[in-house]
Amino acid sequence: MTQFEPVIGMEVHVELATESKIFCGCSTRFGQEPNTQTCPICLGMPGVLPVVNRKAVEFTIRTALALNCLINERTWFDRKNYYYPDLPKNYQISQNYACLGVNGWIEIPVGDSVKRVRINNVHLEEDAGKLVHTELPGADYSLVDLNRAGTPLIEIVSEPDMASAEEALAYMVTLKNLLEYIEVSDCKMQEGRLRFEVNISLREAGSSKLGTKVEIKNLNSMKTALKCIEYEMKRQSEILASGGRVVQETRLWDEATGETRAMRSKEFAHDYRYFPDPDLVEIHIPPSWQEEVRQNLPELQDAKRRRYIEELGLPEYDARVLTASKKTATYYEKAVAAYHNPKAISNWMMTEVLRELREREMDADELPLKPEGLAAIVRMIDEGKISGKIGKEVFQKALESGEAPEAIVQREGLIQVSDTGEVERWVDEAISENPDMAEKIRAGNEKTIQALVGQVMKKSRGKANPKLVNELIRQKLTN
Ligand SMILES: [Zn+2]
Repeated sequence: MTQFEPVIGMEVHVELATESKIFCGCSTRFGQEPNTQTCPICLGMPGVLPVVNRKAVEFTIRTALALNCLINERTWFDRKNYYYPDLPKNYQISQNYACLGVNGWIEIPVGDSVKRVRINNVHLEEDAGKLVHTELPGADYSLVDLNRAGTPLIEIVSEPDMASAEEALAYMVTLKNLLEYIEVSDCKMQEGRLRFEVNISLREAGSSKLGTKVEIKNLNSMKTALKCIEYEMKRQSEILASGGRVVQETRLWDEATGETRAMRSKEFAHDYRYFPDPDLVEIHIPPSWQEEVRQNLPELQDAKRRRYIEELGLPEYDARVLTASKKTATYYEKAVAAYHNPKAISNWMMTEVLRELREREMDADELPLKPEGLAAIVRMIDEGKISGKIGKEVFQKALESGEAPEAIVQREGLIQVSDTGEVERWVDEAISENPDMAEKIRAGNEKTIQALVGQVMKKSRGKANPKLVNELIRQKLTN
């Protein structure tokens, strides 16, 4: 049977973290009342004139540089003409003939090695509005919210250089991390700040001839993009294996059925009738401006990792894990700023915090326990106020309720008991209830001491100071 391999390219849309829109002064804040962040410009009224947001251009230069692109020193906007109800002007201001950045690349991890994925171009455009499909029974209309219309958007177009679903995932993860590091977007996928489009074709394994590709639009998470790639690999290989022909078309992902379905055929390429927007002037980006942007890049992953090793004394491994995502690194730095024990906090990050983030499929900035709360737990342990075990309980409770760890410890009476009299009572009880253990310890069996400490800890519901328990047992049973 013929073996097929996928050829995958991606277009990634990123909403930029500017405060105002790309061609007007309206706010870009997410989640506001529909149509409250609009003006004649982003509503597409006749006769208005757009003025470009300098910050949006700078963020695009920053992204293009980080993706090793060449910058077009003369660039401009083009009108992409099409009709859709969320686009009142009937054209989108985008770039087609002279994209801001071209011919770049990014390296992604593949197994133990890295692979270079070429970037065809990075260009700047405006986002469209959003259609709201009402779910009222019997409703036969949709509503339109134009708050998002005119939000600056960059599109990053890769070459079809990915050869498996795993490589596509590595590309998405690496790109998201990079965008967060250079601070051009918060990349919140659930708010639509980062969106994916996949194009995929199959070819006979080993062949260099490309097959017919299919595009899948509007994928709002990496998970969906992956499911979609896997589905298309199966669908297309079944068509090809049975001697059929893949139709070049745009498809949509249907979350309910877990399938893609045809949206529109691309047999005849769409003609958007691009032409330079006469309302906007050309943008000149001399080398001096590029240099200025390069100088102002925030601290990137490698530099941060070195700093963690040199200034915070972390092992290489910790530094690598903590800097893998900027949001994780920021969480860590805030915790260390609140309480300076870099290694202990790193240990908590690498175990408890990262596990929670994985399970909850969250970024660190969304965790209900704030970095200051984590710092408080580590401090209370260091001060002997609570045991490490209680610390983990408090961590879980703080995650559930969002309450401050100190308050939980107070309310639930979890403070570690270091009062000798009280701990001694628990030790005496444990000895009299476990005479065989006591006997073994008297006979010199070191291991049994730990077992008896365990009994005392259980009695005290984890509150006895384990160091003190250990001392008391030795005093009483050994000489
Ligand atoms: Zn506006």
